[in-house]
Amino acid sequence: MDKYVVGLDIGGTNMRGALLDGDEEQVDELKIPSEANLGIERLIDNLADFIDKIRGDKKIYGVGLGIPGIIDSTRGVITAAPNIKGVHNYPIRDVLREKLDGDIKLVIENDANMVGLGEWRKGAGKDVNSMIMMTIGTGLGGGLILNGQLWSGAHGMGGEIGHMTINSEGPRCKCGNYGCLETYASANAIRRMVSEAISNGSISTALGDRAKAARPGEIPELVMEAALSGDETALGIWQEVGKALGIAIASLQNLLDVDMVVLGGGIANAWDLFIRTAEDEAAIRGFDAPMEKLKIEKSVLGDDAGILGAGYLALQK
Ligand SMILES: [Zn+2]
Repeated sequence: MDKYVVGLDIGGTNMRGALLDGDEEQVDELKIPSEANLGIERLIDNLADFIDKIRGDKKIYGVGLGIPGIIDSTRGVITAAPNIKGVHNYPIRDVLREKLDGDIKLVIENDANMVGLGEWRKGAGKDVNSMIMMTIGTGLGGGLILNGQLWSGAHGMGGEIGHMTINSEGPRCKCGNYGCLETYASANAIRRMVSEAISNGSISTALGDRAKAARPGEIPELVMEAALSGDETALGIWQEVGKALGIAIASLQNLLDVDMVVLGGGIANAWDLFIRTAEDEAAIRGFDAPMEKLKIEKSVLGDDAGILGAGYLALQK
């Protein structure tokens, strides 16, 4: 049977997506600007365009949308999304349904949940039942797959692993709380640690000079390179990242006892610089039995995970 779905990942700059057939095989892919900074109406127009272009003359059964922000997936509402201008409690599912002709099922989820689903379905977690996904980029997004199902919470807003408190007296998070995981494990966290090391004079001269000359976006890569060449400050920063991840993993594993934790996103590329610390910290804090059975793996799908997850969810619903 020809049953096609679209899996879409909406970013602040671009939207990327794929047309999948009923066997979850990718038939086509597309990337166009999202223009999310120009407001939600423009974004909706672009979404409708995207779906029209990618479907061609094929009949679409459903569309899955991964959206950066706090998403009420049950009601199909974007509760808040800092990267999309002018959005607050926005009923995107209903608005988009009006725009698209035909009987198309629309499912929306937080983008990190879609990444978790994709990685579980087709990536590192494809042989396990229960999995925790952490996407470590600018911030830290989480996704929970429990017993083969995405757990998005009683109100569709669960899995916000990045905002677990790691240190009640830690740095202020953009969510308003203090000491959230993403204030220790994210690109923003690394930038914070570098500026603190510069202001209290504890940074090595070599790294300090390069960091002061760099653009903010370049800092994580710089700290990666410096650590690989043995810079003590840089190595210390990755240990902080690893320690925070380990604390979070131990708490999550004590709570959920899953088969696997998958770490993805740009920051996970520094894998060798933080993973030992993370595993050691998790082993110290977590209960022995579930920790010994837990696998901690790097994501294998990269940017495609969110698209495949969104398509899979659309096929399921
Ligand atoms: Zn937070």
